[in-house]
Amino acid sequence: KHFEDLNLKEELLQAISTMGFRKPSKIQERALPLLLKNPPQNFVGQSQSGTGKTAAFLLNILQRVNLDSLNPQAIVLAPTRELARQIANGCSVMGTMLQDKGLKVFQAVPDPSHRSTDAVEAQVVVGTPGTVMDLLRRKKLSARDVKILTIDEADNMLDLQGMGDQCRRIKNALSKDTQIVLFSATFPQQVLDFVAVFAPKANTITL
Ligand code: AMP
Repeated sequence: KHFEDLNLKEELLQAISTMGFRKPSKIQERALPLLLKNPPQNFVGQSQSGTGKTAAFLLNILQRVNLDSLNPQAIVLAPTRELARQIANGCSVMGTMLQDKGLKVFQAVPDPSHRSTDAVEAQVVVGTPGTVMDLLRRKKLSARDVKILTIDEADNMLDLQGMGDQCRRIKNALSKDTQIVLFSATFPQQVLDFVAVFAPKANTITL
């Protein structure tokens, strides 16, 4: 029931304490031990915003990234730019103590200047599916070392035209043993069908 029991990096425990989190929220208490298992396993969680789900999936990512490399290692997909921006900011805050060890977070949202940019050099990439797909296709984002793919608000994602397909295409570009982590507030048939193919054999948490 304490963050200290999760074998998290010292830098993460410090950030958690600085952020004023005294103990894991309900969803964190249930999700973190499953997310952090080794070898990594797929995870599907039912969770609304306000429950602390963002910190749960960000801690999994920040715990696992190798800061000695600037190759992308974790991709987080969100249905809107605004949500992607919030998650990227949250990642930087939670990763404050890892910044001087080399942590870089890249926000992949539509931006004309990406056209000319160099390859993404950041361990964590947070964005909307269209932009991430575009970066992969143009070889600006290397899929080679990506080991975690996190989908936030899967239900909202699948309500948007084409986003489900984009998520599937992104997943297909990644290594077969990539850990799939998915959160959704609701599980209508559309989401259940998606999850069955997208995150097979996942540990699941329902409310
Ligand atoms: P989320 O559900 O990810 O949108 O997070 C909701 C809010 O809860 C955010 O403002 C977090 O900073 C905050 N939060 C997340 N985990 C904890 C925790 N363990 N203790 C206190 N606040 C938290």
